Amino acid sequence: MKLPGDKVCEVEEYLPGRGVYADEDGGVYSKLVGEPRFNEAEKTVSVQFPRKSPGINVVGSIVYGRIFQLLQQVALVQLFPYRTARFRLIPPSPIGAIHISDIRKEFVEDIRNEFDVGDWVRAKIKRIVKRFYPQLTTVGRELGVIKAYCPHDRSPLVRRGADLVCPRCRRKFKRKIAQDYGDPRLPR
Ligand SMILES: [Zn+2]
Repeated sequence: MKLPGDKVCEVEEYLPGRGVYADEDGGVYSKLVGEPRFNEAEKTVSVQFPRKSPGINVVGSIVYGRIFQLLQQVALVQLFPYRTARFRLIPPSPIGAIHISDIRKEFVEDIRNEFDVGDWVRAKIKRIVKRFYPQLTTVGRELGVIKAYCPHDRSPLVRRGADLVCPRCRRKFKRKIAQDYGDPRLPR
């Protein structure tokens, strides 16, 4: 699965179609969350945008997004649309909120031991409340951080046990990670 900014292929291999862009370095990158589709006949690649909302109750739906702000009690997430073979979702709001009590089953003392700005997360919509962002939860093995970067050198962090480490500077980080951290898969 590709996240916005992830490399999909080289321009020499496939020309950019919908939902991707080419960079000066000759790489093709995704603009969206989704699986790339390679058209062998045309030699193009696209990551498709969901055309319409699924028309189901969005509470309970899985969402993907990026942590952009950490408050004392709440993490704010920029949400992205995505599609799978059987499901597509445009989030009901471009922003979702994860309350400190909805991060993991255990008590969380400091939200900064769970998330950092820039982390990619898979979360579930817990509740829609009027005049506030949709409330998300990352309680559960399949939910949490799916990709994170070192704040010192921007290297993608790798999993070591329950923690993440930077392969470059060897710093360790605590996170609420999803079980498929590092190689995230879209639900079917
Ligand atoms: Zn580092």
